[in-house]
Amino acid sequence: MSNKEDANTIIVPPIYHPISRWWSKETVAIVTGANKGIGFALVRRLAELGLTVVLTARDGGRGLAAVEALKNEGLDVHFGRLDISNQNSIEKFVTWFQQAFGVVDILINNAAVSFNELYENSVGQAETVVRTNFYGPKMLTEALLPLFRRQSTAAARILNISSRLGLLNKLKNPKLKTMLLDEENLSESQIEAMLNLFLKDVKNGTWKGNGWPQIWTDYAVSKLALNSYSKILARRYKGNRDLISVNCFCPSFTQTSMTGGKGLHTADAAAAIGARLALLPADELPTGKFFVIGSSNPIHSKL
Ligand code: NDP
Repeated sequence: MSNKEDANTIIVPPIYHPISRWWSKETVAIVTGANKGIGFALVRRLAELGLTVVLTARDGGRGLAAVEALKNEGLDVHFGRLDISNQNSIEKFVTWFQQAFGVVDILINNAAVSFNELYENSVGQAETVVRTNFYGPKMLTEALLPLFRRQSTAAARILNISSRLGLLNKLKNPKLKTMLLDEENLSESQIEAMLNLFLKDVKNGTWKGNGWPQIWTDYAVSKLALNSYSKILARRYKGNRDLISVNCFCPSFTQTSMTGGKGLHTADAAAAIGARLALLPADELPTGKFFVIGSSNPIHSKL
């Protein structure tokens, strides 16, 4: 994965470009945090395209209501309760999933939180934000890795829904930047040490002066960590015969509850592009990329 900040390369064709259908009803996708917003729209899109989709949500009532809404549209999706910030919930979900489906082809780590209004920057809930947005997807991914279907014709894939707020150019701390740019040697423990440093700064009230991202700081740091972990994971599988591709996708400013309904496009529009990325044919599927919906180019890769 190129981590150069000025890289700006179109790497997938526009959304209206047809992609050849490699999947079937046997193809199993999991989407987290899918009772509403972009996650819900992703489930709908994947189900419309004929995959077997597991809609997960932390709240049983909200999750089942979402499944019911899709059933009323004629779509058949499955429900699994999953709080990604809770290791017990992850274990229970994975046990249930293994018994019910056996294998997974596509994991979309979508669930996340931010406790800030659009122009606020409180870090009062930083621990929850980091636990949910970084440790959550990481714990779930590691628990599901043994269940990924391995076959050379249709690479398994992980799509981490991230944010451009967590791009490296938002980080001004030179030491941390150098560490994150050293992709060959970057380790998970370094990422976790960075998060501990951030949480310590929050506790000490020193987070404003230490070069952390300026907008939605706790959220941005959690996504920075997620992007970096995605690179490590992509590196782990790159070149293996039984490839799992790992990419990040920023849906850009989208009208959901996270943004108080504000945004440049709907969740359905963002999900149409996200689903397309998740479904690229194996021979067109990159790994270790960060995709963002841009204004001039429908999708480009940037880090
Ligand atoms: P929403 O707030 O609409 O949806 C977030 C979803 O995550 C909800 O279903 C929520 O469930 C769920 N969730 C939160 N915490 C947990 C948890 N611990 N376990 C399981 N599920 C949880 O936000 P969006 O749809 O906008 O966000 C989707 C993704 O897109 C996120 O990763 C976000 O960071 C990213 N993104 C969004 C942008 C935007 O402009 N909207 C821009 C860039 C990135 P519940 O209903 O129970 O709270």
